[in-house]
Amino acid sequence: MQIEILKLGEIKTNCYIVKDEETKEAIVIDPGEYDDSIIEAIGDYRLKQIVITHGHWDHIGGVEELRLKTGARVVAHINAKEYLNKESLNLCNFFKEKCSIEADEYIEENTTIKVGRAEFKVYYTPGHTLGDMSLVSETEKVMFTGDVLFEGTIGRTDLPGGNMDQIIDSIKEKLLIYADDFTVYPGHGHFTTIGHEKAHNRFIK
Ligand SMILES: [Zn+2]
Ligand SMILES: [Zn+2]
Repeated sequence: MQIEILKLGEIKTNCYIVKDEETKEAIVIDPGEYDDSIIEAIGDYRLKQIVITHGHWDHIGGVEELRLKTGARVVAHINAKEYLNKESLNLCNFFKEKCSIEADEYIEENTTIKVGRAEFKVYYTPGHTLGDMSLVSETEKVMFTGDVLFEGTIGRTDLPGGNMDQIIDSIKEKLLIYADDFTVYPGHGHFTTIGHEKAHNRFIK
């Protein structure tokens, strides 16, 4: 499995392109803004899905154009639907003219997202919004945590649906259960590991 990182949009949201070399399948996680570099990174792989970790403007701004150009299906957690639909919740109204969108498929915890041989478990990890999900591959030892867990910090809880107790519970019960050598790919900033966060992240010590 191969992971490419692009930093897109006004606040440099991490957009991940996850590729399986053998089957030539790929998924894109959080295209915050459309850019041709996404298509270049996909290359000759087949884009199966566009996965949205949560319905905030800086993670969904590129979804519509990428879906149009690739025909890939858009997937989000069922509790993200309201955020995707409403600009008062996805906060597009503060930054852009219009970006309410609809996913093709709404999923829940315990769903599996497959990219070739790699399997990602879907965890419902609310607290930053009411509709956050994180993806964990136990065999590849990687996780994508959206705006829930970052290097040295955690997601904001002052936006609609945010809740400090809930985000801490999500992180402790669903992400920190994994071994220290799991790599954490967050929605912003640098990647980190579970071990590093357990030792240094003051919010979850
Ligand atoms: Zn967010
Ligand atoms: Zn964000």
